[in-house]
Amino acid sequence: MNTYPELNLYIDGAWRKTGEDFTVINPATEAEIGRCPRARISDLDDALTAAEAGFCIWRRTAPRDRADIMLKAAALMRERQEDIAQSITAEHGKPLAQARLEVIRGCEFFEWDAGEAMRTYGRVIPSAPGMRYVVHHQPVGVVLGLSPWNFPMSQPARKIAGALASGCAIILKAAEETPAGAMHIVQAFHDAGLPPGVLNLVFGEPGQISEHLIKQDPVRLVAFTGSTAVGRHLTTMASESMTRVLMELGGHAPVIVCDDADVEKAALSSAIRKYRNAGQVCTSPTRFFVHERIFQPFLDIFVKRTAATVVGKGVDAGVEMGPVANNRRLPALLGLVEDAVAKGANLCIGGGRVGKTGYFFAPTVLANVPDGARVMQEEPFGPLAVINPVTTLDEAIAQANAVPYGLAAYGFSNRADYIDKMTDEVEAGNISFNTLEASLPETPFGGVKSSGYGREGGTEGLDNYMTVKNVSHSMDIV
Ligand code: NAD
Repeated sequence: MNTYPELNLYIDGAWRKTGEDFTVINPATEAEIGRCPRARISDLDDALTAAEAGFCIWRRTAPRDRADIMLKAAALMRERQEDIAQSITAEHGKPLAQARLEVIRGCEFFEWDAGEAMRTYGRVIPSAPGMRYVVHHQPVGVVLGLSPWNFPMSQPARKIAGALASGCAIILKAAEETPAGAMHIVQAFHDAGLPPGVLNLVFGEPGQISEHLIKQDPVRLVAFTGSTAVGRHLTTMASESMTRVLMELGGHAPVIVCDDADVEKAALSSAIRKYRNAGQVCTSPTRFFVHERIFQPFLDIFVKRTAATVVGKGVDAGVEMGPVANNRRLPALLGLVEDAVAKGANLCIGGGRVGKTGYFFAPTVLANVPDGARVMQEEPFGPLAVINPVTTLDEAIAQANAVPYGLAAYGFSNRADYIDKMTDEVEAGNISFNTLEASLPETPFGGVKSSGYGREGGTEGLDNYMTVKNVSHSMDIV
């Protein structure tokens, strides 16, 4: 029988309570499952002092030794997959099968970045005899990581992996609503022998924590995943101290279904992917622009598959979609549906809460949604799909680009000219064709426009965590 872990802060290599805490809720039952400690200012200052000391040790640790500890921690997490997955499902609500995959994905982030730790190559610039110009990549310093609640384990994993692989120390503030995922990661690193201070974990009032820590001198990078509004606020604060930011913000992913696409396969794959994590994914396919010739069959198949989606508690066998993770999403989603319907959209299925206990929202499809509806601009971050007909690829691309976001985008087609045009013209950090997978450990992930800047993953992923130092060396004094 798996139990939800006891929740603590982790500072300078030791777990700590604070005397103040708040409730963690299971979104499927609304029952209290744990109490998460709230950091005091003195705890944050301790974390800062510890991280500074940890950075001095870790930046001088050989990349291969850093990689060894990361791989050991990842192996421990793989061994503990079931416990971690059970915690994730309890605090977040997602089906166990998805939680298990999340744990593996989190491990893959550590494994990939551990390899990259050994490949942060510099460069020798050709020079005159007697001169050497050498470019070094050095860790930026102490990182403040801020991770959200939609992937309790793999989101913290991204930030911790990037920081540790680069030789940085990190203070992570994980999401207070889903704290156990990050706790398990920290426990694995503790058990793998990570030196004290290199990784610190805090929870508390998000605004207070970010305001107190961002302006502190040792903090050299703020790595945030969350909403564009909060990202903008944090970036403004960071600009006061010229602190670097890595911002992975909201998305409102378009899916362009071209006239040559296999309608059935595209519709089925889309309807399954849409409801993964109850739609609470920044890359979730959300705005479907379907060529008018295949619009009706696409909509029919999508709605039929939506109706078959098994909604329930994540711990129950066969469940495909759990509740949304917190009760803020229920009125937010309802508001978007009501607004769209009032403006003339066709509500094909869903549109409201399911049951009275637990934050369940029905898988929802809106069709023929007018441009003026809020959902055409606002990220629903829930199980809501918009499906609209278009007459040309130009129109579809214009619609795809008609939002402030540019994170993930998708296309269904096998025509080289269509693929080429979408690659060139769709404004997004990532575009995927005939697959709704947008992000892997080995591919760079991030946004354009209001979806943020910087990349996580790929060979680009450690760039944010490192600075470039050029060394000019004359063999004689000149
Ligand atoms: P929110 O913007 O208030 O919070 C998002 C995250 O930011 C939370 O984890 C929160 O703890 C943190 N946060 C909030 N204010 C902060 C501050 N001042 N300093 C530091 N951290 C802070 O919104 P929410 O209601 O929790 O989520 C709703 C929206 O957030 C969604 O509509 C979606 O756009 C966005 N979101 C995006 C992602 C993503 O993967 N990009 C993940 C979660 C949420």
